[in-house]
Amino acid sequence: MMYATILYQEQEQLCCVDSFGERVFLLAEFFSVCQSPEAPSTTEGFPADMLSFISCYQPEWTDEIAEFYGKRPELSIPLSSVELLAPIPRPARNIVCLGKNYKAHAEELKGQIFNDKLPTFPIYFTKPDHTVIATGGTILLHETITQKVDYEVELAIVIGKSGTDIPKEKAEEHIFGYTIANDVSARDLQQDHTQWYKGKSLLTHCPMGPWIAHKSTLPLPLELKIQSAVNGEGRQSANVSELIFDIPTIISDLSRGYMLRPGDIILTGTPAGVGMGFDPPKYLKDGDLVDCQIEKIGVLSNSVAFSCKA
Ligand code: MG
Repeated sequence: MMYATILYQEQEQLCCVDSFGERVFLLAEFFSVCQSPEAPSTTEGFPADMLSFISCYQPEWTDEIAEFYGKRPELSIPLSSVELLAPIPRPARNIVCLGKNYKAHAEELKGQIFNDKLPTFPIYFTKPDHTVIATGGTILLHETITQKVDYEVELAIVIGKSGTDIPKEKAEEHIFGYTIANDVSARDLQQDHTQWYKGKSLLTHCPMGPWIAHKSTLPLPLELKIQSAVNGEGRQSANVSELIFDIPTIISDLSRGYMLRPGDIILTGTPAGVGMGFDPPKYLKDGDLVDCQIEKIGVLSNSVAFSCKA
């Protein structure tokens, strides 16, 4: 089951997406008929946005939602008639990211961003909420402050249940699902400031979507192709099974003495093939189109433009 946030009839709404990625069903219809005492009520009586949906999510809902709409195909709306927003358009906290979590990527940036050693503990940094844009949105080049804007396709974990000191074997219980992110990076700022926060935090530099694949669709361990392309030219191609620190390890390690909350987003790192890894480098340019794809989740597509045009 895929869950999405859309703009429809000038309102931000929650929906689920059919298995072909062609039609959507508004979750408001499910909640108007199958009201749950666990659902926080808005004036309409259902979760107002993806964060509240995830916070009050009950394990039986995905099956109930599938059954409800399976019997009511007439309620579907063509995906082409709605606007997809980022699945969590306004994260409540900074997005946590891992650096250097694929061996081949660590090797391609040796001596540029990374030292020669592979990490023995996950490397964390964050991106603020203002970086998030949806599929179809425009990545801005911020040409007055950076000339080295790069792409990084990543599998993103969406946390479903709060917890601290989570053992690896219970990590999956705390996951809501997965989406695709592009950890857009200003390489010159990343190098100039030494600490990565500034170079990873520019407006529009975290495209995310197109939706969240619920974990029931993708049980651990994940083996999914992860790829990116710029203007149709393949750049990154790997499998998420190649992560140095796998998903249970990330959740277990990050949650040590740290509270994970529903709706938290963790980007798991990018594979080899980023623009900086080429000689000469292939940074993003005005007019480029970046496609980030993960098997069984979908495609996140974003155009690139000079900020002065925005
Ligand atoms: Mg990254």
